[in-house]
Amino acid sequence: MKSNPKQVWVPGPIIVGAGPSGLATAACLKEKGIPPLILEKENCIASSWKLRTYDRLKLHLPKQFCELPLMPFPPAFPTYPTKQQFIGYLEAYAEHFSVKPLFGMKVRCAEYDPSIGFWRVEANDLEFICRWLIVATGENAEAILPKITGISQFQGQVLHTSFYKNGDDFKGKKVLVVGCGNSGMEVCLDLCNNGVQVSMVVRDKLHILPREILGISTFGLSMRLLKWFPMKLVDEFLLLCSWLILGDTKKYGLARPKMGPLQLKITTGKTPVLDVGTFSKIKSGQIKVVPGIDRFADNGVEFVDGKREDYDAVILATGYRSNVPSWLKEEEFFDEKDGFPRKPFPNSWRGKNQVYATGFTRRGLLGSSMDAHRVAEDIACQWNSRTEQHLPLEL
Ligand SMILES: Cc1cc2nc3c(=O)[nH]c(=O)nc-3n(C[C@H](O)[C@H](O)[C@H](O)COP(=O)(O)OP(=O)(O)OC[C@H]3O[C@@H](n4cnc5c(N)ncnc54)[C@H](O)[C@@H]3O)c2cc1C
Repeated sequence: MKSNPKQVWVPGPIIVGAGPSGLATAACLKEKGIPPLILEKENCIASSWKLRTYDRLKLHLPKQFCELPLMPFPPAFPTYPTKQQFIGYLEAYAEHFSVKPLFGMKVRCAEYDPSIGFWRVEANDLEFICRWLIVATGENAEAILPKITGISQFQGQVLHTSFYKNGDDFKGKKVLVVGCGNSGMEVCLDLCNNGVQVSMVVRDKLHILPREILGISTFGLSMRLLKWFPMKLVDEFLLLCSWLILGDTKKYGLARPKMGPLQLKITTGKTPVLDVGTFSKIKSGQIKVVPGIDRFADNGVEFVDGKREDYDAVILATGYRSNVPSWLKEEEFFDEKDGFPRKPFPNSWRGKNQVYATGFTRRGLLGSSMDAHRVAEDIACQWNSRTEQHLPLEL
């Protein structure tokens, strides 16, 4: 930080991040007459969706669980809108609520100054001063790149799924996908559909569920059942349906954890995979399941079972992490280890000294919408009861 950065007084809340969570929060605040300022490090809204996702991506969950507050999806949207449709919706959303973020503003430090009772937020060569700070930088801010012995020696291409677009660059090649979450599975399917010889590393047990059960989305069905039945029973039902629809997944190298899929999600945050067609390719042997990697060699990898295989490229579907600990100088609200609020949902949205979080519920866009409403209501109470909006005297 420069010793004397230019200071900018912001009367309303500052939102860090112009993804769906930041936009939703801005819209809810604006609806209550409160002017937010969004600081976004990239040069566009929804940068995760525009810059870091593959072409064939559709919303993983049905549209009714992915709408942002106050503006429904266009009625013509399919059940699972495409990435382009979702981005179009977010553009229209920002336009409708006149949300105009400041782009190219990477927040590198935000700290509460108790001597003035305001937050100091540093981005580029500016210091913004505000009363309310809303963290909306997302659960998936940074790619996780695992440290695997010998990876730098590998002569082929290595990339994270956030850089994968489609199978065009990999035609006729032999590719190893490391990781078997929703993204890893879908990238494998995309590669396979493009005639690529693909293997998928599966190290741990995982739950794979059909995306739909009897024509109803598995997610929607679970939500409905949870209103009436305990989670353990719903989990048992989901596992029975999965067994009937997919068969014994263990036979194909995908052993299931002891804990049921919903219970596991709530306890550890580990999302079950919703199958979009990958499993039938695994069953037919078109996608090969391989164990964990022990080390990389020049042209391939050695697995933990001692077998060796050559590959032209490796795609790391190894997930993402929050980046909050790198810039938010605060110890109580966010856990510095995982960058998530310490208190779990539904209490994850508010910290001390007017700091808030939206989009850290591990519940996707539905969670972001709930947070956005709560945060806007809480700030509105303070905004409406304020006696005066003045600059801190010390400035
Ligand atoms: C492949 C994929 C598919 C998904 N599909 C679904 C789905 O179908 N349904 C669902 O509900 N959820 C889905 N999710 C989960 C989640 O809803 C999305 O990741 C969603 O984009 C989260 O929105 P967000 O605004 O919280 O975070 P993001 O979209 O990641 O936005 C955060 C923004 O903050 C900015 N930022 C980060 N750090 C800084 C900084 N220091 N300073 C300034 N700006 C910063 C980023 O550039 C980014 O624009 C999916 C996630 C992935 C990865």
